[in-house]
Amino acid sequence: MIRLFRQLFDPTSSTYSYLLADRSTGQAILIDPVFEQASRDAALVRELGLRLVATLDTHVHADHVTAASLLKQRLGSRIAISAASGAQGADIALADGDRVAFGARHVTALATPGHTDGCMSFVLDDESMAFTGDALLIRGCGRTDFQQGSAHKLYASIKTRIFTLPDDCLLWPGHDYGGLTSTSVAEERVHNPRLGGNISETDFAGYMSHLGLPHPRKIDVAVPANLVCGLAGDEAAAEGPGWAPLTFRFAGFWEIEPAWVEEHGAEVQIVDVREADEFAGPLGHIAGARLLPLGELERRAAELAQDRPVVTVCRAGARSAQAASILRKMGFEKVANLAGGMLRWRAQNLATQGARD
Ligand code: FE
Repeated sequence: MIRLFRQLFDPTSSTYSYLLADRSTGQAILIDPVFEQASRDAALVRELGLRLVATLDTHVHADHVTAASLLKQRLGSRIAISAASGAQGADIALADGDRVAFGARHVTALATPGHTDGCMSFVLDDESMAFTGDALLIRGCGRTDFQQGSAHKLYASIKTRIFTLPDDCLLWPGHDYGGLTSTSVAEERVHNPRLGGNISETDFAGYMSHLGLPHPRKIDVAVPANLVCGLAGDEAAAEGPGWAPLTFRFAGFWEIEPAWVEEHGAEVQIVDVREADEFAGPLGHIAGARLLPLGELERRAAELAQDRPVVTVCRAGARSAQAASILRKMGFEKVANLAGGMLRWRAQNLATQGARD
């Protein structure tokens, strides 16, 4: 039973999302997906040949909106969150001990309230890893000063439910603000400065009541949206550019298929970023393409119209992907990379000009 695992990061909210899949069936789950990262995460699922069967939220987040509803719309995944969270619109209302299966594997939901009443951790079937949401963080823990937070409940959850997992169980938190990625039960049990070692419940409660943290910036937007599983999120912010059927790549750029460009060539600016000798070389170039070698792109970008879509082209699609990123950074909003470059264009027998063959 070989599993696939990826840790994903949203830099705006410092949130980790986790993709787990059973390779034999291709079924996958995604824990704590972030609304603004839905296109990225969907791209990864597609590129790895997986089928997303469920998204799981560890709790009603206050600092970001979940992508649960958006991914359900796009990929058909079911939405799972604890019944105790009070969130409406879930397909699976989890109770303590419930399992969520993906292929031959599953995670078990473990009620770990304290940061919020509805917090759950998810433990992989072989107890080799657990996803602790905002209950336990690396050398830290979630705050307990809003959303029904309770230091006493959190202390009990961590001590009796997380610290009783196997010593070498790896723990994967919902956030880390310093770039740390994972920890283990054994080390947190000893070294967690808030409640490791001999720290008592009273010590912990005293610590937690003096954190003095500012109110989360997005709480007034995030909590209401998450109480309906992200359904109220701003669709437009997560939608792809609408000018053509584009595919977002996990590598971070939009791609377009040769057949669409062949049909709609007159509507777009085709920018060939190869060198002049390649442009006139054996592969030829696309009719109407403008030669703008990658090395000159930044200097000569003013030659392009900002308001018309740009399709970047090169031999195999690598340099043109870089060109697409450069143009995006320069403020061009409608930019896509020609998938597979001139090699795929020719393999699909689409028309070229200037080929010496
Ligand atoms: Fe939280």
